[in-house]
Amino acid sequence: MSDTRFIAHKDDPATDMPNKIFYSKLLLVAIFLTLIAILAKSLLPQKSFSLVPNPAPDANYFLLDPEHPNAYWVDRDKLHFHCVYNESETNRPCNFIFMLSVDSIKGTNLHDFDNLNLDIKYSGPAKSLRIAIRSYDPRFSNINDSNSTKFNFINLRTKDLINPLHIRFNEFTVADWWLAQYNLPREQTHPDMSNAITFAIDIEGDLHGSEHDIQLNKIEFTGDWISSENWYLLILFTWMFFGAVFNITRLIQLQRLEQQQRAKISDLVITNSKLRNETDKFRKLSTVDALTNAFNRHGIEQIIESLDIRLESTSIIMLDIDHFKRINDRRGHDAGDRVLQKISELILKNTRASDKLGRWGGEEFILICPNTSVGMAMALAEKLRIVFFDTVFEPDNPVAVTASFGVAAIYPSEPFANSLKRADEALYNAKALGRNCVVVAEQDIPH
Ligand code: GH3
Ligand code: MG
Ligand code: MG
Repeated sequence: MSDTRFIAHKDDPATDMPNKIFYSKLLLVAIFLTLIAILAKSLLPQKSFSLVPNPAPDANYFLLDPEHPNAYWVDRDKLHFHCVYNESETNRPCNFIFMLSVDSIKGTNLHDFDNLNLDIKYSGPAKSLRIAIRSYDPRFSNINDSNSTKFNFINLRTKDLINPLHIRFNEFTVADWWLAQYNLPREQTHPDMSNAITFAIDIEGDLHGSEHDIQLNKIEFTGDWISSENWYLLILFTWMFFGAVFNITRLIQLQRLEQQQRAKISDLVITNSKLRNETDKFRKLSTVDALTNAFNRHGIEQIIESLDIRLESTSIIMLDIDHFKRINDRRGHDAGDRVLQKISELILKNTRASDKLGRWGGEEFILICPNTSVGMAMALAEKLRIVFFDTVFEPDNPVAVTASFGVAAIYPSEPFANSLKRADEALYNAKALGRNCVVVAEQDIPH
């Protein structure tokens, strides 16, 4: 199980890495574009609505009271006019008007503009010019009363007119005298250019015995195509939109990945259990004991089956280590294992290649000796007994190891189990005789 988990997790970061790099780059690009979008706001072209210069051929502009000669055009096409007042004349206006309306109700919507750009050349004694934009509002304007249009205005010092002016609409106010006259509720008293009827310039103050020359070079309304507020909202919504799209796709991808991994894990679990079954099968099929390298029981049985014991004199030696439990108890299981390995090594070293050694039980071995009479087997067992006796086991902390032996013949006429039983009984007798000795099965003692 731990292996399957390891494999499943190991795959993820590797396959996801190019994606992560791609998304990191994308994020950087998006941040960069956002920065440009924020900085570029002030550089975006503005919309403009120009009255002067080059007024439209059908533009309607005039000097108020044109019949009276104290206000007259020097050059109407170039928007150049002059106002002259005698000492005796009083309160005649010097007033320029540019009509913004189609009729007296339907005007021009200046609401979407933010600024008024003016370039006016003035010479004369007046201290200020008044710029007024009148707008018609059906809530209080009356077609029969031209004064009822809202009076949005700003006073400009004539000495400031040396340079072109950039005036923000929020610098306009509604004239107090006009508000006093119409007595409007508070929400209707703010400047409003959404339905502008006229644009007017007039000279303020006592005009007795004065002359004024005015040249209009530029009257232009400008505004953002999109307000800063909306621009930043748009950027925010773009982020939110792409963020949402990105997250939804990522979520779908991750869910798909999770499903794939679940499938992979369950596949691996199945494979794992199959492998475990296979391992078990192979363990059963294996004929060698892993600890001692001797044949295991299954291996010995196969050898017995394959041996042509009917033609040969074959003997069997069973041996069992004496008091092996004590070695385990006193020296530990690992030391016990090393003793078992050493015993196996000694037997293999002191027997013929044709002799087959098997581990029959825990500390019990069996030796099948083809072409070996019982007498020879007995001698071999005795030799092994002495070898064990003389060998220094666990040299670092020596322990005496002896074994008891039971010897029997394998007759062609009988089942192997019978020989085995006789060898086992002989071994039992060897133990009974005090261990560390060789006993031949009574029936098989050579005469
Ligand atoms: P006896 O002389 O009567 O044969 O006494 P014994 O102690 O050798 O026999 P017993 O059957 O009482 O104990 C055998 C011990 O062998 C018990 C078991 O723990 C140990 N043993 C069995 N297989 C292994 C093994 O693979 N490694 C180790 N270290 N010990 C084992
Ligand atoms: Mg034993
Ligand atoms: Mg035993």
